[in-house]
Amino acid sequence: METIIPPPPPVLLPISGSLVGFPVRRVYCVGRNYAAHAIEMGHDPDREPPFFFQKNPDNLLAAGNTFPYPPLTSDVHHEVELVVALKRGGSDIAVDEALDCVYGYAVGIDFTRRDLQAEAKKAGKPWAAAKAFEHSAPVSAIVPAEAIGHPVNGNIWLKVNGETRQKGDLDQMIWKVPEIIAELSKLFTLAPGDIIMTGTPSGVGPVVRGDEVACGVDGVAALAVTVL
Ligand code: MN
Repeated sequence: METIIPPPPPVLLPISGSLVGFPVRRVYCVGRNYAAHAIEMGHDPDREPPFFFQKNPDNLLAAGNTFPYPPLTSDVHHEVELVVALKRGGSDIAVDEALDCVYGYAVGIDFTRRDLQAEAKKAGKPWAAAKAFEHSAPVSAIVPAEAIGHPVNGNIWLKVNGETRQKGDLDQMIWKVPEIIAELSKLFTLAPGDIIMTGTPSGVGPVVRGDEVACGVDGVAALAVTVL
């Protein structure tokens, strides 16, 4: 069928060492997945069932770009996260089969309008404006699992202007990658092209215009973003 307006372009993430792109279908995010971050946000670090929210595929900001400070906020926080890219999906995926769905990994930042999120939490309103705004998810190139395996530990870190702000280890994740995929697939039908941001370690904090943000997951990828 002809389209009445031009169809939106596909969202493609670069793949490390490849000329072909990774097309993105959906972006899922895990909330409070490191105990120390749950505590700093005023929550109980016990292993409660994971909860999820979403960003839009076109909120992704491919590697090497700048992050334009968004409107209607004065408290944008960085959250560095391990990103998982799926090549396969399904419903009710078993934990021990979940890693078969993973194409690769990246590092990303779940930029958050913390002031709008705090207002939304207080009012019992949704988080969309706090989380799913333009350019809110800078992400590195995807590194195929074929090349690096499936990381279960390793430093995850973020610096602002050279100063360490966030420092954790993947082994501190409350819900591990296979468990996240299994839990998500109970709620949603996962599919190739889905991206999962797996939560952030402690040390989240504000950025301001002019900041140079650098982050990475050792053994996976690194990313640098300038706040404009
Ligand atoms: Mn997050």
